[in-house]
Amino acid sequence: MTENRTVRPLIDGFGRTIRYLRVSVTDRCDLRCRYCMAEHMTFLPRDRIATLEELAVITERFIARGVRKVRLSGGEPLVRRDVMMLAQRIGRHVGGALDELTMTTNGTRLRQYAPELAAAGIRRLNVSMDTRDPARFRFVTRHGDVAQVLDGIAAARDAGLAVKINMVALKGINDDEIASMLDWCIAEGHDLTLIETMPLGAIDEDRTDRFLPLTAVKEMLDERFVLEREEKGTGGPARYWRVNGGTTRLGLISPLTANFCDGCNRVRLTTEGRLYTCLGHDDQRDLRQALRDGGVDALDAAIEDALRTKPRRHDFRIERDAAPAVARHMSVTGG
Ligand code: SAM
Ligand code: SF4
Repeated sequence: MTENRTVRPLIDGFGRTIRYLRVSVTDRCDLRCRYCMAEHMTFLPRDRIATLEELAVITERFIARGVRKVRLSGGEPLVRRDVMMLAQRIGRHVGGALDELTMTTNGTRLRQYAPELAAAGIRRLNVSMDTRDPARFRFVTRHGDVAQVLDGIAAARDAGLAVKINMVALKGINDDEIASMLDWCIAEGHDLTLIETMPLGAIDEDRTDRFLPLTAVKEMLDERFVLEREEKGTGGPARYWRVNGGTTRLGLISPLTANFCDGCNRVRLTTEGRLYTCLGHDDQRDLRQALRDGGVDALDAAIEDALRTKPRRHDFRIERDAAPAVARHMSVTGG
């Protein structure tokens, strides 16, 4: 750890304080969700990938400089061998300098890893499941088995982990299932977050065909559920509602229909050790190289440099035949 050095808080050029780091531990995945990846993806060669030690050192520097929340993501974080080592190392800071360590996972390996994740200090997981229907799930993920994910969610619950379900709203695929997914989440005690598809990375189809604006979804849900707005901002993209006065919260992530950038408190570290300060822009700094060249001082300088130029906002649009806003996939930057 490096807390003894001069520690300046992480404030970007627009005065936003950075408190949240998302780390993509791998760009690889055992599924191929249609809105996320092409069927035949070229993944990073292994020699471009930062070691877990490097990712840990960089992450700990962010924690020393005021980051209070870290999320491990990917690609699928649980397909990276030794990812638990990183979880354990970062998890040691929970309750001290770190408020929370979380993970976003597709759930396929949770049966195996949930107890270790809980032991590492993780209390909450986001599990992505766009549909509970086996045939639809196989279609969306190109080969996945939803029973495995449901079993993984049960394992997470058994390990004492709170689960939030992430569901990308997809026109013609799961739009008729959103209300029943919320019913299921209420019954199971999960939160549910709905996400609009974002134009990140080339895929095999046109995202316009599947884009479902959450404004319309919210109107539909208002007819079936009592949704009470929770105003407490998380600095994140989601807006939240309490459902039917109970414990379940509904989150809507609508980057296309509601811009959320003014309160942005996050940056993203890729599996190569590059820092992206905005999901929707290409600006990045190679923190691993800085660390290798000049240790923590050079790392700090590279972080400062990146924050100075963090964009004010993304500029996502979903338009027919338009190129993606950025060429890299969500799996590279860590969704
Ligand atoms: N593999 C893990 C998973 O699926 O949860 C973590 C990585 S995944 C990139 C993180 C989240 O991003 C998932 O909830 C996924 O559905 C979402 N996602 C991926 N590509 C997206 C896109 N183009 N637009 C909106 N959400 C996307
Ligand atoms: Fe893999 Fe997650 Fe992308 Fe699906 S959304 S292909 S599970 S990284």
